[in-house]
Amino acid sequence: MLFGFRCPVCRCVGHRLCHRCLDRLPHAGQIRPPEGIASARALLAYDADVQRLILAAKNGNRRDLLRWAADALIEREKIDGSDNGARFDVVSWIPASSAGRQKRGFDQGRVLARQVARRLDLPVQQLVARQRGEGQLGRKRVERLVGPTLRCIRSSPATVLVVDDVVTTGGSATAFAAAVRGAGAHQIHLLSAAAVGSLPADTVQFRDCRGGG
Ligand SMILES: [Zn+2]
Repeated sequence: MLFGFRCPVCRCVGHRLCHRCLDRLPHAGQIRPPEGIASARALLAYDADVQRLILAAKNGNRRDLLRWAADALIEREKIDGSDNGARFDVVSWIPASSAGRQKRGFDQGRVLARQVARRLDLPVQQLVARQRGEGQLGRKRVERLVGPTLRCIRSSPATVLVVDDVVTTGGSATAFAAAVRGAGAHQIHLLSAAAVGSLPADTVQFRDCRGGG
């Protein structure tokens, strides 16, 4: 059934994600919210192993890993579709650049968002689009700090849960928040599969979400 799968971290055969690697992946949890974001949580703290996992999911067409990450994120972070009792109105994502989407054949943020929405029984909707020619690939860090230029493509509900694959500088999330705020959103919460830097001291080993093989 798992024939043909390799663990994306250690490359052992027959596992979506082997238990040995799963036990070692560093947990992130609550992270410092980027500007414009009310709260932010990430499943994994970005390191070399997590990088392999994310790259396999994105560039190796391993959507199964994205589904696993969405499930593990909800379970581990105890996400119930609300924040302090306020129910999220919609789940959305930060669209990949058209170059990235063409290269991979799918948008990893959209896959994650749809999976999270399904698990939380919330609607999922694309709220923003990138300006033409915009992409994070190959941009300098100083440019990535600013984030992509995003425009709202419809009016936004008040409370939005935005899902992303990796939070690096937070620039993309901040750009998303600015765009949807202009279209009616009041509060934006962020969930991410992984986060780089600005991590809490809590890096307990990741043991209780054995969603993989
Ligand atoms: Zn492994």
